[in-house]
Amino acid sequence: MNYELRCRECGKTWGNQPRSICEDCFSPLEVAYDYDALRSEFTREKIAQGPPSMWRYRALLPLPENYEPSVPAGFTPLLAAPRLAKQWGAKNLYLKNDAVCLPTLSFKDRVVAVALAQARNFGFDTVSCSSTGNLANSVAAQAARNGFHSWIFIPADLEPAKIIGTLVYGAKLVRIAGSYDQVNRLCSQIADEHHWGFVNVNLRPYYAEGSKTVGFEIAEQLGWRLPDNIVVPMAGGSLITKIKKAFDELVRLGLVEPKAVKIFGAQATGCSPISTAVKAGNADIEPQKPTTLARSLAIGNPADGHYAIKTITGSGGWAEDVSDVEVVESMQLLAEAEGVFTETAGGVTVGCARKLYRQGRIKPEETTVLCITGNGLKTTDALTGQYEAEAPIAPKLAEFEAYLGRTLEVAEAVGA
Ligand SMILES: *Cc1c(COP(=O)(O)O)cnc(C)c1O
Ligand SMILES: [Zn+2]
Repeated sequence: MNYELRCRECGKTWGNQPRSICEDCFSPLEVAYDYDALRSEFTREKIAQGPPSMWRYRALLPLPENYEPSVPAGFTPLLAAPRLAKQWGAKNLYLKNDAVCLPTLSFKDRVVAVALAQARNFGFDTVSCSSTGNLANSVAAQAARNGFHSWIFIPADLEPAKIIGTLVYGAKLVRIAGSYDQVNRLCSQIADEHHWGFVNVNLRPYYAEGSKTVGFEIAEQLGWRLPDNIVVPMAGGSLITKIKKAFDELVRLGLVEPKAVKIFGAQATGCSPISTAVKAGNADIEPQKPTTLARSLAIGNPADGHYAIKTITGSGGWAEDVSDVEVVESMQLLAEAEGVFTETAGGVTVGCARKLYRQGRIKPEETTVLCITGNGLKTTDALTGQYEAEAPIAPKLAEFEAYLGRTLEVAEAVGA
């Protein structure tokens, strides 16, 4: 194996096992690679010969030998966003569109695919997670596809589509009357009692590596260049740190020219422990009690908060947060300007990006990528009341002409 677990603080190595914390110093573990051994495996040419999915980067993912992927996750479109950019007086704006990631329409499909590869390797027959919604969908779907039993733990108040979108795969879904942070603590206790593979608890270091593929893809899709800026939504703070790791690995292995990419974090104001810490200049977060519509980001005590802050400030970036009203407006803005229907988390990213342009922290002509991480069809309840269902009309041309006349009158009256 060209990889193993290593403590992020004391550097002690732990081989490969289902474990996320260093027993010596209680710091988180991450996957470390023997880059010299991998150098000839991870080249632009070899990647180009791979499949159109995240598996084209498998040389830098912690996978068991001879692993056969079961889902074509990743390699989502990088879309130019000229109309959105124009509204903001900018250029060179892109959307990394994981609203259409397979199989369950969020970037979580990437992390789950890697975690389940290791779950099989470690001999688990049941996989599990604590989730704010998208992880639940992805674990349930990929467990079904790979023949695992699955137990999913969620806060009770998640969106109906995310609940149905878990149950449909035959997963055991446990709704907890409490916050995500309480759900997660419970899962750590269950993981000590039951021999289950918790993708974001005992398999967390492997899981997190799947997020690197977002960064690899952005670089490849920009023609093997790094962007000037990237805006990333934050829940537990893992994705943002792994995009940074991916960029560093590409530079280290010579696939892109070195470049100082500014990394910007985005949160909802109602759950903003990381952006609050960045703005205050603190190195660590203070836990919050979430009150936001953006449930997929509602983690009040983010596991990787400290490292997310370090990633942002170390890059010369910044963190912002937006109100729930701005989240909804931003979902509508992205859909109307670019034809991309994202969930609340995408609204957070777009809303924060708008603020960052206004503040001058992102310059108009710089190449900037917004990470759109989930699909709007999963959070339609956020748009309740935004669009009134009008009374139906008869299937007659005259009725339609009358309707059109009324509609144009109204449009004139409001000056549209
Ligand atoms: C989980 C999630 C995130 C944030 O991921 P972290 O790695 O926990 O910071 C962002 N967007 C969506 C849609 C998510 O489901
Ligand atoms: Zn340690």
